[in-house]
Amino acid sequence: MSSEDVECSSKTKRLHFLLIPMMEQGHMIPMVDLARLLVAHDALVTFATTPVNLNRIRPIIDQAAATSLPIRFVELRFPVVDIGLSEGCESIDLLPSVDLIFPFLNALSLLRDPLEAYLRIPDKAGWPKPACLISDNVHHWTVDVARSLNIPRLIFHGPSCFFLLCDLLVNRHRAELEAAMAATSDGFTRLQGLPHPIRVSKHDVITLSPSDPDKSKFMETIRVAEESADGVLVNSFMELEPWYFERYREEQSKPVWPVGPLSLYKEELDVKATRGKASSIDNKILFQWLDRQEVGSVVLVSFGSIIRNTMAQLYIELGHGLEASGRPFIWVVKKVVDKKVPRAEEWITKFEKRVEGRGMVIRGWAPQAVILGHVAVGGFVTHCGWNSILEAVATGVVMATWPHFYDQFLNERLVVEVLKSGVAVGIEPTDYLDVEKFNEAEVKVRREEVERVVDNLMGGGEAREERRKRARELGKQARAAMEEGGSSWKGLQDVINYVSEHQRKYQEANISC
Ligand code: UDP
Repeated sequence: MSSEDVECSSKTKRLHFLLIPMMEQGHMIPMVDLARLLVAHDALVTFATTPVNLNRIRPIIDQAAATSLPIRFVELRFPVVDIGLSEGCESIDLLPSVDLIFPFLNALSLLRDPLEAYLRIPDKAGWPKPACLISDNVHHWTVDVARSLNIPRLIFHGPSCFFLLCDLLVNRHRAELEAAMAATSDGFTRLQGLPHPIRVSKHDVITLSPSDPDKSKFMETIRVAEESADGVLVNSFMELEPWYFERYREEQSKPVWPVGPLSLYKEELDVKATRGKASSIDNKILFQWLDRQEVGSVVLVSFGSIIRNTMAQLYIELGHGLEASGRPFIWVVKKVVDKKVPRAEEWITKFEKRVEGRGMVIRGWAPQAVILGHVAVGGFVTHCGWNSILEAVATGVVMATWPHFYDQFLNERLVVEVLKSGVAVGIEPTDYLDVEKFNEAEVKVRREEVERVVDNLMGGGEAREERRKRARELGKQARAAMEEGGSSWKGLQDVINYVSEHQRKYQEANISC
């Protein structure tokens, strides 16, 4: 037997997972992490997405090829021009307007034909057919693909069980919540059935349970597809939200496996620094700068992949606040697109000069998870995207929460009120009730407030030390969950066992026929 034959026969025995991520950095990044973790658990992976998204993770693809990782990256053509978008708009963060998010989501099923066409091509490398499809929950159309392959379809959920449960309760009790909100002076009401006093606002209800018939129909399609899934993978860990995991499991009539924090998958630093996209800064300069800072002294400010600096004025306030705080910081600034502030770039350049040595501005993409893992970083001003929160939790960093939209307000409540590892900046959800307001939002947090929040986050005192201790403890638990034998490690192993068992039964049934 040649070495190629041996390799081929070993591959035929391994389980093959087909991964279909949602095209948005906050979904794509953890799915790439998941692909690598599955391979570390001895599986084969096909990762299918669109050309632009593949291009973004080119460094990861090249590294996978160079180290012979059994991950295939498959290109699916997404006909964005046919749905009225410009060429290349293949990810939520590339859409020119938030109004286009829904049409984009609605068009995702156009990926079905190219995927099925790919699956019909005979495999020349001796890989077995996929044994399982893991789909982002938004890709409802993958139900039929999995069915035609006779394989289980598992869904991957980006957010926490806390959020998933709140979402479920909001949708179930929408009318009561609205009535209760109308009767209160501040427009908030408590979500019943949870062990923590979690209050929801009109913003939560509108975004989680939209009244627009098209959006509501789309959400319903996703829910139906979710019901038919064989299991659910959640990028979270049991010790972080045990009650919510248990309760969410009770709600689902299928297995729910914790598999996170996925950002903790083991990888060389330079490879990890390309997570999501190649870094916009020379990582050597960045890490030399971080190495010079005192342990726990640096504040990282980053608002994720979608939020644009449309509110440039707000950013100017943020910049002044950071400057006045007197603390070392890294500030990740995405493109400024506010026409009312045409000289934002000039402002930032001057700002950089003023804070030289103490502050670093990263324009574009930062290796966020790696920065958070550096010992010099002690605090994180975050927009409360779930990945960002989990990355801070995983690295034991305290947070100042500055939510903007969708799940971010509920994520804030988890951090501040349940985990107690963060402090709220104080954004009112009502500020972002509609798109127009979101784009045109005026300054919500003045520079003095930014300075105060940074001080509250980074300063001394018993309460702050307690918060830091709590964050460190969560970080320890997160790392333990991902270590061999830990809760999330076992979660992924259970996924593999589940698929393996399904395959065995299917093969037995077919042999006996
Ligand atoms: N991210 C990054 N560099 C950036 C901006 C974001 O690495 O400059 C990563 C971040 O670490 C996280 C993801 O992009 O993994 C953003 O996901 P999240 O859920 O936090 O927010 P979203 O972008 O979906 O709003």
